[in-house]
Amino acid sequence: MRQIKEVLRLKFEAKLSHEHIAAATGLSKGAVTSYLKRALDAGISWPLEPHLDDVVLEARLFRLASVPAAGHAAPDFALIHQELKRKGVTLMLLWEEYSAAHPGCAYRYSQFCFHYGQFRTRLKRSMRQVHRAGEKLFLDYAGHTVPVIEAATGEIRPAQIFVAVLGASSYTYAEATWSQQLPDWIDSHIHTFEFLGAVPALLVPDNLKSAIKRACRYEPEATSTYADLARHYGTAILPARPFHPRDKAAVEAGVTIRPRVEVLGVRRRDGRAEAVVTTAGELRAGTVVVAAGAWTPRLVRGLGLFVPVEGGKGYHVDLEPAEGDPALPVWLNETRVIATPLEGRLRLAGTLELAGLDLSVDRLRVGAIVRAAERGLPRLRGRRVLEVWRGLRPCTPDGLPIVGRPAGLANVTLATGHAMMGLTLAPITGRLVAELLAGERPSLDLRPLSPNRFRPLLGRL
Ligand SMILES: Cc1cc2nc3c(=O)[nH]c(=O)nc-3n(C[C@H](O)[C@H](O)[C@H](O)COP(=O)(O)OP(=O)(O)OC[C@H]3O[C@@H](n4cnc5c(N)ncnc54)[C@H](O)[C@@H]3O)c2cc1C
Repeated sequence: MRQIKEVLRLKFEAKLSHEHIAAATGLSKGAVTSYLKRALDAGISWPLEPHLDDVVLEARLFRLASVPAAGHAAPDFALIHQELKRKGVTLMLLWEEYSAAHPGCAYRYSQFCFHYGQFRTRLKRSMRQVHRAGEKLFLDYAGHTVPVIEAATGEIRPAQIFVAVLGASSYTYAEATWSQQLPDWIDSHIHTFEFLGAVPALLVPDNLKSAIKRACRYEPEATSTYADLARHYGTAILPARPFHPRDKAAVEAGVTIRPRVEVLGVRRRDGRAEAVVTTAGELRAGTVVVAAGAWTPRLVRGLGLFVPVEGGKGYHVDLEPAEGDPALPVWLNETRVIATPLEGRLRLAGTLELAGLDLSVDRLRVGAIVRAAERGLPRLRGRRVLEVWRGLRPCTPDGLPIVGRPAGLANVTLATGHAMMGLTLAPITGRLVAELLAGERPSLDLRPLSPNRFRPLLGRL
């Protein structure tokens, strides 16, 4: 990585001569002069805007963007590279913004991705950190939380994802906790040490409130409980340095949650899934879990797998509530509708429509659900419909879920086909998948759920 930021700092903050800057950075005087001239030409002033890190500066000063083909507007790839670091931002979103800003002269999405890929390969790699085995354990929480639905009440609570990654091997431990507060933070450490069966020489936490009282480059101070934990386990705390993103790179590589990224397929090579192809680029695959409900067959087609899951479309029709409505769910067996009082509404559910992956709302079916409910509960007549929702239940031919490893693909696990019961069965499925991935004996006999129990009909693959 070029030391552009340091050169600018020494020039404008420390007011050193070019000669002194060269001596301090180990660059030639010519290089220092060239950086400063390029910064001037690129309109970069001191102090720097907070989003300008060395990667972006390098791109701005050395014009790493690809030369646009005639007739096409040049995307600002340095800015795009920076924007991609923000939560939830994808290449697809940025392309949409770019093409909206340049109607008629924008690259198509595939070309846009190609040029961005070219841009990235031309960026100089950040300096590699060399880690000794067992020395450093990097600790942080993943950038996104994960919503957890309380089965009894329907309440949705966000869970934090604690991540611990060993620097040399990238061996990773992760767990969900309700908060980032001290008790959870300490508990997660204990679980990590138990999982590793060892304690590293150094703990490298991010500068979280539970870990660090005073974030300072030279003398950071750990909270007293955290310091006690380190003493108890005979290890030391070395907080990640503020503004040194590479210190966090290990943890970020450990767990990254990528919302709004679409999976386009999974590539197979030599009996393994080699890479997951997404709208935000390719991810090399160590292990792949495909849990995409009714969309699973489409995603695993590239792996040559036959997964007979069909989307069974179902509807929720929420009616405005009224005095005297049922206080408990009522199953109207004769008319095949369930009426459930939920969140101040009366929810009607019924119907299973086989329409592939089509998610459109069939008004006739919605009307039929309402009429069926009215036949069973005449007092619902004339009630206003507040909301209609539809979803695809992933259904299998034998009514059992599919949980396990398909034959001939060592690093793929499927978890799908839960039909009407996916919300109820999610926790046990999650546990089974975790056990499979950890190489443990599953707590249920998985043979009845094996993905290998189906045979394609002739011509079906
Ligand atoms: C009307 C109705 C009522 C229901 N009621 C109940 C109930 O009371 N209790 C119960 O236990 N279950 C119920 N279910 C069933 C339950 O919703 C499903 O079994 C469950 O959602 C299946 O979970 P899943 O994770 O396998 O699939 P899904 O919930 O369908 O999740 C699949 C996910 O994969 C994502 N995805 C698909 N393709 C891609 C791609 N290419 N790239 C990235 N992401 C992708 C989708 O966006 C989706 O978020 C009901 C279903 C319906 C329709």
